[in-house]
Amino acid sequence: MILNEFIKETQKNQMISTLLKHYKVGSVKMKQKSMKDHAHYDVDRGELQLSTRYKTLKDSQIKEFLITIIHEIDHAVDSKKYGWKRFKEMYEFEMNLQVQAGKNEYDDNEFEIKAEKFGQKNWKQWYSKFKKQNLI
Ligand SMILES: [Zn+2]
Repeated sequence: MILNEFIKETQKNQMISTLLKHYKVGSVKMKQKSMKDHAHYDVDRGELQLSTRYKTLKDSQIKEFLITIIHEIDHAVDSKKYGWKRFKEMYEFEMNLQVQAGKNEYDDNEFEIKAEKFGQKNWKQWYSKFKKQNLI
């Protein structure tokens, strides 16, 4: 690993830990996993999963990275608020509701819509903060 890569990896981890602390989800179960998405909240396990596949971020990946992390953090916030088992039940209930209405269990899922709005609404503010801190 060259020094520049090491610095970038550190900065990426610093952004993640800043976000987790800010939204107070540090106590939610967490796992590092090699996966395509930057992050994923596993409803069945009540676990926030962070990708180890991207050690560093290219400029073109930063927006998607921030939206994804903030989106998944919204699920983690709900999981903390309701307790992960209850949130799992609520999420599954919502999935069934959408399926019964002939809609899509994810795209029309109120938790997914809320999380995506949260990500879209907040990524820019974090982008400027992290830019000022020379993290990106
Ligand atoms: Zn989601």
